[in-house]
Amino acid sequence: MELSQRNITYCKNVGAKRADILRKELKVDTAMDMLRQYPYKYIDRSRFYKIAEIDDEDTYVQIIGEVTEWHTIGIGRAQRLSATFFDGTQQCELVWFKGVQYVKLQRGVKYLLFGKPSRFQHVYNFVHPELTPLDKVTPEMTQGLEPYYNTTETMKRHGLNSKAIRAIIADLLPDLKMGVPDTIGADILQQYRLMSLTEALVNVHFPKDTLSMQNARARLKFEELFYVQLQILRQMKRREQNPGFAMPTVGSRFHALYKSLPFDLTGAQKRVIHEIHDDLKSGRQMNRLLQGDVGSGKTLVALLCCLLAVDNGFQTCIMAPTEILANQHYETLKAFLSPLGDSVHVALLTGSTTAKQRVPIHNGLLNGSIHILIGTHALLEDDVQWKNLGFVVIDEQHRFGVAQRAKLWTKNQTPPHILVMTATPIPRTLAMTVYGDLQVSVIDELPPGRKPVLTIHYSLKRRAQINAFLKKQIEAGRQVYVVYPLIKENEKLDLQDLQNGYNELCEAFPDYRISMVHGQMKAADKDLQMQRFISGETQLLVATTVIEVGVNVPNATVMIIQNAERFGLSQLHQLRGRVGRGAEQSYCVLLTEQEISADTRKRMDIMVATNDGFRIAEADLQLRGPGDMQGTLQSGTPFALHIANLATDGQLVALARQAALTILDQDPLLDDERNRIYKRQLDILRISQSYNWGEIS
Ligand code: ADP
Ligand code: MG
Repeated sequence: MELSQRNITYCKNVGAKRADILRKELKVDTAMDMLRQYPYKYIDRSRFYKIAEIDDEDTYVQIIGEVTEWHTIGIGRAQRLSATFFDGTQQCELVWFKGVQYVKLQRGVKYLLFGKPSRFQHVYNFVHPELTPLDKVTPEMTQGLEPYYNTTETMKRHGLNSKAIRAIIADLLPDLKMGVPDTIGADILQQYRLMSLTEALVNVHFPKDTLSMQNARARLKFEELFYVQLQILRQMKRREQNPGFAMPTVGSRFHALYKSLPFDLTGAQKRVIHEIHDDLKSGRQMNRLLQGDVGSGKTLVALLCCLLAVDNGFQTCIMAPTEILANQHYETLKAFLSPLGDSVHVALLTGSTTAKQRVPIHNGLLNGSIHILIGTHALLEDDVQWKNLGFVVIDEQHRFGVAQRAKLWTKNQTPPHILVMTATPIPRTLAMTVYGDLQVSVIDELPPGRKPVLTIHYSLKRRAQINAFLKKQIEAGRQVYVVYPLIKENEKLDLQDLQNGYNELCEAFPDYRISMVHGQMKAADKDLQMQRFISGETQLLVATTVIEVGVNVPNATVMIIQNAERFGLSQLHQLRGRVGRGAEQSYCVLLTEQEISADTRKRMDIMVATNDGFRIAEADLQLRGPGDMQGTLQSGTPFALHIANLATDGQLVALARQAALTILDQDPLLDDERNRIYKRQLDILRISQSYNWGEIS
């Protein structure tokens, strides 16, 4: 019987009880499902490394040596253990941040170290390595490549540990070797030099050597990524056939704004507007992602494109993730549009818009007199009805769920054109996957005359020195942001921190005025505080990350980030982007505790080293790794990834996309007989992962 038809219950070493557990814990129903449980690591017991011999960050290695020094940072759950490991000639770093209390280290003992190295600035480090005292290492442990499988607590309680899984799979091997139907066509296998599925499954579980293991994994990763791309791109192809509103004219409002601008557009801005206009003319619906670094002038591009639509008789809207940002867009757009007089009617709709204020807005949307509506999630409410919405801008998209995006798209019979703008650049692999169904435009140029922000990393202890610096800046007429972290789980404590920080600043700067803004405030109060800062009435703004996205105060030249270790890289970059918007030299000061983890150190170093958002995005992806990204991915990836890793398999993502595109270019809906296996496999994946594209597109 085909392995995909054979019930797991009747496999050797399983039986009814274990089958039940495998079904519940791993969703394994058949022998084939079992074979699709890939090892998460291998121990190459035949090879011992010296640190100097490590040449690939992705391979597990074992090294003999001693632990020479270690220390713990933090307490309780946040505890983290760092150690230095010495192999006789060279050192590497070991790090544990889970189960630290179980790690018992001894000086003067020889250990066998096992783990996956990663390199940062010439030093290798191992996160959660296995460390076995050499006298506990048995001869069996040092034979060939040993697969290790993920298990759960429940599985272990019933004897289903990694070894048991290995035994079940070993029993299936003879049948597997007879051959299983492939999921990828022979032409693609050949073109991309990939193993057959049979060969890959054999070698992923019981590899002859490291090379065949790597090749097997590469094939399985490719397969996974290929189907993700096939699904995403098929969706894109389908949508490309959607009729879209035709907007051929470049009209008077567009020209009027263009002429009234006090500066020239950058080359990149012009190019992107052309790309978008080409879509608007095409008669098909546009779905485009606009990438650009902080301060690259995305807002203006969005506005000009809105005017293209308005000149063609359509309404438009811009959705922002926060009220502050929506308000600010409203003010910015009104300022830009003031030379155009009454010819463009802009309205603002947010959670704070009263029922009374809504009446004229609802009417204006229905009778078409409102041309551009700016707002927050409030734009998605059911009672927001349009006469002819033709163009939608979603700003700083990561704050919006995919489902919300979907809701907008279904408002009209003919879907509006969609422009999604990111707050900061997204790494290429992520863009190809999470936003893989969108066309991409990139603004890769900043307006001229910007001085790069100078970034400094200081310990919190140097407060006094920083205050002296702030004083100088303020005396020179500049303004300052001081940002505090805010994490939902301990919001109270964080707000206390913010309040203390505010009080301290009041004491340190008795002669200046200070605004304070945080998420718990009433929208009107928040707005008032922001306005005071924007108008220059207050010199300092103390805030939580509510100011993270999009706020534009060119006179502000200093960004102080308190407890910078608690922010992610893209957040730090986004915050830094609030300064450096005017002609003056700007500064970003990252304040952390004296003692910081290796990871934090890396983040701070990258921030200090570069202002390039694209580089920071890549580094962020590398540092955060796949686990942390799962959240992002779940909303954006059609199928869960089991073996491929978007942080490290960028090359394969590109290849898989290329392969999928080649197929779909000839057969967009996979109707061809020769593409039957792809269509079938997509159906299988969809059913097994109960994934519903309908909800997302
Ligand atoms: P982003 O949203 O991409 O982070 P913004 O749209 O907020 O950037 O633009 C940052 C600032 O640069 C704004 O004050 C904007 O008016 C200004 N700006 C935009 N385009 C140009 C340009 N071509 N030349 C000079 N300044 C520009
Ligand atoms: Mg912006």
